[in-house]
Amino acid sequence: MSVVWSLAELEQGPTLRVAEIFHSIQGEGAATGRAATFVRLAGCNRACEFCDTDFSTFAELTVEEIARIVRDLNPRIGSRRAIVVFTGGEPTLQLTRERLAALRAELDAAAFHLETNGSTLDRWGGAGWFERLTVSPKTLEDFATTLRFWERAPNTLPVDLKIVYDGQNLAPFDAAPRSIGRYLQPKAVANDPEATARNIEKTIRYVKENPQWTLSLQLHKTLGLR
Ligand code: SF4
Repeated sequence: MSVVWSLAELEQGPTLRVAEIFHSIQGEGAATGRAATFVRLAGCNRACEFCDTDFSTFAELTVEEIARIVRDLNPRIGSRRAIVVFTGGEPTLQLTRERLAALRAELDAAAFHLETNGSTLDRWGGAGWFERLTVSPKTLEDFATTLRFWERAPNTLPVDLKIVYDGQNLAPFDAAPRSIGRYLQPKAVANDPEATARNIEKTIRYVKENPQWTLSLQLHKTLGLR
């Protein structure tokens, strides 16, 4: 169940609303198979009908408390190879520049990755704190916002596009820069394994015919990981 909160509610105050923090394997996109510590921030500005993230319970944590939990879960966090993935919900709603600066000070060398729906990217000022961004727009309006962000994003920042697919027209995404990673994830349909299987089939067929796209299968779910 997704929960939509106002921006003012999320950006202010000494704490962030955190749905969960856990250490696992990245199951999607370019870093698939890499160990990563996930910080899932609660709340989203979209309400997708297929959303499988429950934000109804969350803890209010300071940056220092978040960093302590991340360090406890992943003792290798001081290494440049360690990855912290900020996901959601829509994490940019809470990751203000000030909070990111404080997180960077606490977590030192770890690579910060971001998973975002792209809707805030044209006004969000936090990209400079990240080593990789995965943008998964759920509407064409959010993709247009992402394109505006791409025009001014530094060339050195890896940005991937991930689309949840059930057969829709993907032609609008041809406007994304050629150099980016394009990942296609079959749409999972709750309580309907046959519909999910049909979407997997459609996605495989599309990727075979359009090799600029890469199949992304949520490896963590296949393996029964969190
Ligand atoms: S953008 Fe992502 S987190 Fe937000 S409601 Fe949609 S699927 Fe859920």
